[in-house]
Amino acid sequence: MSNPYGFETRCVHGRPDRAFEDGARSVSFPIYQTATFGHTFIGHGQFNYTRQDNPTRLHLEETVAALEQGVDAIAFASGMAAISAVMELFSPGDHVICGEDLYGGTTRLFNNVNIKNGVGIEYVDTTDIAKVRAAVRPETKAIYLETPTNPMMNVSDIRACAAVAKETGALLIVDNTFLSPYFQKPLLLGADVVIHSGSKFLSGHNDTISGFVVVKDQALAERVRLLGKTTGGMLAPFDSWLVMRGIKTLALRMEKAQQNALRLAKALRENPHVTAVYYPGLPEHPGHELSLRQTSGFGGMLSFRVDSRETAERVLLGVKLVTFAETLGGTESLITYPLTQTHEMVAEDIRERLGITDTLLRLSVGIEDAEDLLADLTQALEG
Ligand SMILES: *Cc1c(COP(=O)(O)O)cnc(C)c1O
Repeated sequence: MSNPYGFETRCVHGRPDRAFEDGARSVSFPIYQTATFGHTFIGHGQFNYTRQDNPTRLHLEETVAALEQGVDAIAFASGMAAISAVMELFSPGDHVICGEDLYGGTTRLFNNVNIKNGVGIEYVDTTDIAKVRAAVRPETKAIYLETPTNPMMNVSDIRACAAVAKETGALLIVDNTFLSPYFQKPLLLGADVVIHSGSKFLSGHNDTISGFVVVKDQALAERVRLLGKTTGGMLAPFDSWLVMRGIKTLALRMEKAQQNALRLAKALRENPHVTAVYYPGLPEHPGHELSLRQTSGFGGMLSFRVDSRETAERVLLGVKLVTFAETLGGTESLITYPLTQTHEMVAEDIRERLGITDTLLRLSVGIEDAEDLLADLTQALEG
């Protein structure tokens, strides 16, 4: 859908030609807290039953579609519900090439559910396009990746993966949770499907869970919508409203988080207890050049390695302003221990190869004062 407005305007107002206008024209879109909708004729109305369709969720979906520049977005009750629905596109015998450095819950879904149901999942280093191409088989139906990855911040070439997917007749599915459409628009780089955990930057306040599937093809949108309605993990009206409210400030939050992340990345690099900093915004990061070509920013996520497990524990338990907690992408800065919190499901050999060890820490940088965050991390590192 063509949209005359810039990104920030879309964040605040959604689509200019909303499919549904509430009669009172309230500035804050109303929460249609209802299970069902009355009909005035025989057949399906514009809205029928909230699992299937709801005006509040629809407004949010139109907003997210407008941000990613897709034809449609479907809102789910969590990122995992969104990914589960997308994986229902595949049948026993189908082959899916997946990045090996994925969100731990995604790996758990693939390993415990999709493989059981006969979908062949093959983990590949998607930062190496030759490895992606070499993994293609006649039955390959999709390439699934995250970029930058969680937690190693590795960057994959979306355009190059899209070219391989196109040659193969497979879908390219990109989980865009880490950068949000503010910094990266995979559909414009050739991807077919974008996934979001809306629990992270989109909602942005660590106060709700949600997920999205955004597509650029109408027929595929209808298939995913039908899968959502059928499997039932759709986002509730109140949560839809919360995510919508969060999105209004997405651009401002992403800018501030990035500014803070760059400040922390540079300062941590100089700390004697820190042995490596993984942030694509640093010129020495292996994905820096590629990021400059495919994104408009580096985001608010970074990981760093410390000199020992003792230091890692001291930081996790010693921070006072930053919270030691899972999740990311909110106004509050959080620090995570990927080894035990988010990536215990990843096979040990892959973990070792990637560097997800007992000295690795992941930081979701919030929008606080950068100097306060730095002072807190410094005192925790020094102990
Ligand atoms: C959190 C996350 C998910 C899962 O989303 P939930 O909303 O927690 O279900 C998927 N992908 C990435 C990259 C994530 O960070």
